[in-house]
Amino acid sequence: MKLEIKNVTKKFKEKKAVSQFSMVLEIGQCVGLIGPNGAGKSTLIKIIADILHTDEGEVLLEGKNISKMKREIGYLPQYPNFYEWMTAKETLLFMGQLSGISKKELIKEIPIMLAKVGLSGEENEKVRTFSGGMKQRLGIAQALLHKPAFIVMDEPVSALDPIGRREVLNLIQEIKKETTILLSTHILSDAEEICERFVIIKNGLKIEDTTMIDLISRNSKPVVCVEITPNDKFWIDIVKVLPYVKSAETIGNKVKITLDDIAEHKNKLIQNALENNVDIIRFEMDNNETLEEIFLKLVVGA
Ligand code: ADP
Ligand code: MG
Repeated sequence: MKLEIKNVTKKFKEKKAVSQFSMVLEIGQCVGLIGPNGAGKSTLIKIIADILHTDEGEVLLEGKNISKMKREIGYLPQYPNFYEWMTAKETLLFMGQLSGISKKELIKEIPIMLAKVGLSGEENEKVRTFSGGMKQRLGIAQALLHKPAFIVMDEPVSALDPIGRREVLNLIQEIKKETTILLSTHILSDAEEICERFVIIKNGLKIEDTTMIDLISRNSKPVVCVEITPNDKFWIDIVKVLPYVKSAETIGNKVKITLDDIAEHKNKLIQNALENNVDIIRFEMDNNETLEEIFLKLVVGA
């Protein structure tokens, strides 16, 4: 099963919130939709959740229009709207019935879902008394209640304090094992921890669709630093003549090696060291920008 977002454009009056946006989400993935405030994340997510409709383009699930496949999508809004006077159990009962699940089914499923999101024992507490993290976990329970194949979450941790953030990130790690996830955030480090793939959006346009390792490799100097033991210094002469090595410079027990292409040759170099029984004490990519710096450069253009 796959979710296809095809050339989606959404305008609010003359303002294009999302512009010609395409991406494919395969089952099993956990993808971060990352972009600054106003980039178009919530608009795109609402289109996927079939809450907003496109001006151009379409969203397909298994080749069918998303409106016909709503059952397979769970949605956690950026600002979930709970009735503070309801208990956790009442909330799920109410929202579950709104989304067409029978009361009988809900009575069976709600305790299982509350246990899953770590709210067993809180089922009869009013939402008013819940912390931010608990509310967000209740929101995730509501999004998963009808057992969708995909869940889209709009900034699930952005507004939480560090404890709430940790609770929700841990929960997402669990959900990820059985549900395909698209989550948005304007804080890169939130996605860094849980997503394998990053899609970066800016001014409604997709500007990147990549993995963390690719992003780091592409923005790194092709230099690695390898620390070896004095006994293994013979390896430096081997390294110098490797076809993909431009230069190797010795600094104490460290060798600074410039490669042709870091992504392609880094692992080859490690393999060569192992084949020569070289004891690697430390292996580092040199002078790397952090993911945060790369992200800032992409979205701010600094
Ligand atoms: P993000 O979630 O990335 O912060 P949004 O999707 O909420 O971004 O907004 C994208 C752009 O569309 C912003 O410029 C925002 O002001 C505008 N926008 C969003 N929703 C509406 C709306 N209902 N009416 C008018 N403009 C909107
Ligand atoms: Mg938003």
